[in-house]
Amino acid sequence: DHKNYDAPTGLLRDKVILITGASDGIGRALAIETARLGARVILHGRNAAKLEKVYDAIEAIEGSERPSIAVMDLATADGTSYSTLAESLLEEFGRLDGLVHNAGILGNRQPIEQYDAGEWQKVLHVNLTAAFALTQVLLPLLHQAEQPSVIFTSSGVGRVGKPFWGAYSVSKFGTEALSQILAAEQEHTGMRVNCINPGAVRTGMRLAAYPAEDRDALKTPEQVLASYLYLLGPDSKEITGQSLDAQ
Ligand code: NDP
Repeated sequence: DHKNYDAPTGLLRDKVILITGASDGIGRALAIETARLGARVILHGRNAAKLEKVYDAIEAIEGSERPSIAVMDLATADGTSYSTLAESLLEEFGRLDGLVHNAGILGNRQPIEQYDAGEWQKVLHVNLTAAFALTQVLLPLLHQAEQPSVIFTSSGVGRVGKPFWGAYSVSKFGTEALSQILAAEQEHTGMRVNCINPGAVRTGMRLAAYPAEDRDALKTPEQVLASYLYLLGPDSKEITGQSLDAQ
């Protein structure tokens, strides 16, 4: 069962894995764990200082591969930012084995009647359009890998619409669709493409959404990584077009 997948030592040895939103929350925990399992991790985020702390945490792991940092604000990145990133990855690694679309923003919780149009655009842009653009520019590098794996991050509200969750919920529905479409289009190449719904996790985003809830009752990011590791490693090589629940 992927939720309880017990990643063996060295599972991701020499795998080149890019994680978006690696500066905090689930992305940060996943970056550290994939590095512990041998991966060469590219830490993407918008805040260089926060990414450097994750870099240091990985450097402190004995035997870990030195990570790379890719600073790019998904809200403002343009075509040049994406192609520059792809070119530098091509030069440094020559391929990409794993791409984890984890970065995301919550946006306002408001009824549609009042939902701010600018906020709507921003949430859809960061959560959905940026994942499309990044995937597209990185496909040639993914095709250079033997068993490439792409993971999108969904949510419970990406499967059933939730009142007041507006653009966030819509962006996660769109993410599920993007994942299914890409999975079908790429099946003949051997690339696998799946979605993960992490479930309720003790992060800044969850706290912003539910400020009054008991934080201690929530799983930590470190406790929900099994499904991600399963999808990144060779044990999932037949799995594509799925949407998994991490809890
Ligand atoms: P966090 O807010 O803790 O982390 C979000 C990450 O995304 C941070 O690294 C953040 O960077 C980055 N990010 C946000 N906006 C941008 C941007 N414009 N450009 C680049 N990076 C950006 O959230 P979680 O760890 O909780 O969420 C991770 C994923 O899981 C998201 O896709 C979320 O929707 C999904 N999810 C989370 C759930 C939960 O309970 N926590 C439940 C269901 C889904 P910075 O550090 O600079 O802010």
